Amino acid sequence: MDSISLFNLGGKRALVTGSSRGIGFGIAAALAGAGAEVILNGRDPAALGDAASRLADDGALNVKALAFDVTSEDSVEDAIAHAETEIGPIDILVNNAGMQHRAPLEEWPLEKFRQVIDTNLTSAFIVGRAVARGMIARRHGKIINICSVMSNLARPSIAPYAASKAAIANLTRGMAVDWSKHGLNVNGIAPGYIRTELNEALLKNQEFNSWVEKRTPMGRWGDPAELGGAAIFLASEASTFVNGHILYVDGAFTATV
Ligand code: NDP
Repeated sequence: MDSISLFNLGGKRALVTGSSRGIGFGIAAALAGAGAEVILNGRDPAALGDAASRLADDGALNVKALAFDVTSEDSVEDAIAHAETEIGPIDILVNNAGMQHRAPLEEWPLEKFRQVIDTNLTSAFIVGRAVARGMIARRHGKIINICSVMSNLARPSIAPYAASKAAIANLTRGMAVDWSKHGLNVNGIAPGYIRTELNEALLKNQEFNSWVEKRTPMGRWGDPAELGGAAIFLASEASTFVNGHILYVDGAFTATV
């Protein structure tokens, strides 16, 4: 295999959770650009329709949309069963759906804590388990879990978020330990500060913007499209012996921790 075809995802089918916008959309666009059929996901069918149209306008040939809530075991099981029978086997799964909430820790309602853990962590288990069954039967599959620079750090007002991201990093290693013997590669991508709706309030805060620019050695926020290359690498035959690894895409943020 030559070095360019190592990254070719032609004939592969990828499900990217939380891909109606932000990092998930950036990753879905990159995988589609490398030749994969892409299944977009989110909870809002209208937003998914818009996202699918944008990908098609950019030249993606094969885009589907599957609305389901990644925190609901029943919805996930139904959606994955539907996808595998009606659309086709899933070769690549990106567990990307996530949420953030900010408040001094003593003010976090338990309900919000649980929602963050369910959305950012439990979802990767529920969706990962449902998709891995088919991958294990076919003895091939690539799973990418979206972690964070907060997997290793504590910052004010986001302790439950950081806890969910620390846990998904170790879930990634555990999935690799259990599933690599069945032919799966399970890895993580840990983004730094990326311009998305999740950070809408922070992006409007000049003081926070200056902190991100100063704290990130590259001196700027990242763009969702800049996660695409790492996703193609981990989804492709270029990474057959990479397993249980967390790849930081953070403008050197963690290099200075
Ligand atoms: P956005 O808020 O821009 O996008 C989140 C996506 O997830 C949307 O498509 C949203 O669609 C979907 N989503 C949220 N909850 C659910 C749910 N319960 N079921 C299905 N889909 C859901 O966030 P980002 O793109 O910034 O974040 C994506 C991932 O990257 C998250 O895991 C986040 O923690 C991580 N990350 C982000 C960083 C950043 O700086 N932006 C840095 C490090 C990690 P809808 O609401 O319509 O369901």
